[in-house]
Amino acid sequence: MTTQKNPVTGTDLRTKIAQLLAPYMPKAYDKYSSYSPDFHHVRSVSIILAMKGVADLHSHSRFSDGTLSVPDLMALAASRGVDLMALTDHDEISGVAPARIEAAKHGMHFVAGVEISSQWCGMAVHIVGLRIDEHNSALRETLASVREKRITRAQAMGAEFAKVGISGVFEGAMAYAPNPELVSRTHFARHLVDSGVCGSMGEVFGRFMKPGKPGYVADDWLAMIDTINAIHGAGGRAVLAHPGRYDTTWTGGPNGLLKAFSEAGGDGVEVVCAAHYPHEWAEYGALARKFSLLASIGSDFHSPHESRVKFGDLPLLSPSLKPVWHDWPEAESFYA
Ligand code: AMP
Ligand code: MN
Ligand code: MN
Ligand code: MN
Repeated sequence: MTTQKNPVTGTDLRTKIAQLLAPYMPKAYDKYSSYSPDFHHVRSVSIILAMKGVADLHSHSRFSDGTLSVPDLMALAASRGVDLMALTDHDEISGVAPARIEAAKHGMHFVAGVEISSQWCGMAVHIVGLRIDEHNSALRETLASVREKRITRAQAMGAEFAKVGISGVFEGAMAYAPNPELVSRTHFARHLVDSGVCGSMGEVFGRFMKPGKPGYVADDWLAMIDTINAIHGAGGRAVLAHPGRYDTTWTGGPNGLLKAFSEAGGDGVEVVCAAHYPHEWAEYGALARKFSLLASIGSDFHSPHESRVKFGDLPLLSPSLKPVWHDWPEAESFYA
């Protein structure tokens, strides 16, 4: 790239841009040597000029597998500079109403959300519903049925653990689930770490609860297209969560997944999220453009101790993408 210099100060454009960007650059970048400032340069400047807000549209509270209460979660997000926030508990919307109140206390814009456990080609895919009407009865019934499946699965998982000599795991996991209707593998993992079976959450998910490993029980979630329809029925936008986290080796790679999601009526995809490495921000940005999907951003925050990225530390979306919030009144101040 040829650099232009300011004729008066002699500062070259690249340096000026880097200075402008510095306050907005996420700490997350520092961790990855593969990050190149060239990747973001002018596009980021234009987004800063056009749009100032920090959005985080994926987070969990104690209503699902997060460790913070709704008030603590919203206070933390606000303290870290989040302007537009969604609570997206797994298969559960009981936290939405209190979260909206807390967001207002902190002057944060808020949209109702949920992360729905879904199924595509035999694998679990997570679909975030954003700006949903949490009072929609069809959606509420759908979520209630998914939560029932969670309990049944958890009991079966307990039985699978017992088969390999690890007893009391179902009861142990339930003791970690503040919402008895919403038990997740995360609660199992916390129990297995705290009871000394594993040294870390990463170790748990490496050794247990996936195909071929002890504690595994096949998922039976909603088909991807049914989830998308349920979200649309509640007036929301369906966003494919953390696409880089799925093993798409046998299903056409990320391209195959995003194509199927788009053809099923999906609206958007998380481009910037904690599960993605910087090269994936570009990869999924390109795929979002290819399939005309809106772009979203979310930390997938679960806990101050477990999350890889802090609120406010993710980079902004490239202005070459259309944000999922582009026409939301809650995001109007972003474009002021
Ligand atoms: P479930 O929805 O019950 O199948 O559990 C999925 C949850 O497990 C995700 O939402 C994450 O919170 C958590 N999880 C999955 N993989 C990992 C991992 N490798 N390390 C930590 N947590 C994980
Ligand atoms: Mn989770
Ligand atoms: Mn997820
Ligand atoms: Mn999540």
